[in-house]
Amino acid sequence: MFIALESLFGGAIEIIELDYEFDFSKEEYNGVFPFTTPVKLLGKITNRAGVVEIDAVASFDFTAPCDRCAAVTTKRFEVPVKHGLVSSLNDDGNDDYIVVENMSLELDRLTLEDIYLFLPSKFLCSPDCKGLCSKCGTNLNEKSCDCKKDIDPRLEILLSFND
Ligand SMILES: [Zn+2]
Ligand SMILES: [Zn+2]
Repeated sequence: MFIALESLFGGAIEIIELDYEFDFSKEEYNGVFPFTTPVKLLGKITNRAGVVEIDAVASFDFTAPCDRCAAVTTKRFEVPVKHGLVSSLNDDGNDDYIVVENMSLELDRLTLEDIYLFLPSKFLCSPDCKGLCSKCGTNLNEKSCDCKKDIDPRLEILLSFND
């Protein structure tokens, strides 16, 4: 979805309100399609004394298997979409700015890129997920198993003091 920014860069208008919903249901991420409901983008693009900025927040539900126990989990995220925008890179090539080709910003792509950068490297059902037993596959969040734990030899010495 492209949004035209000529009148904003030209100074004819100072603000464009953003209130969109994007359908990312066909976007694959680590083998699953986590955006089961629309991604909402709310915010604005402004031109203040020649400085053009997008300042918005993408909010969405993200549904994927937990990286430790594989339980399908839905979590709500709010991701900032905040960048300086330039119509051409005529300065020192500062990476903090996004160059808007032909004064037309591909808003859904930018939102998706920011979401992917923001997502945690490990997606967990809960921060203290115990995961699956590496030997028998039991979900250790639901019950324990009788498999012998591989105990760190240094820890074993400490434990033997209790005998
Ligand atoms: Zn888990
Ligand atoms: Zn086990």
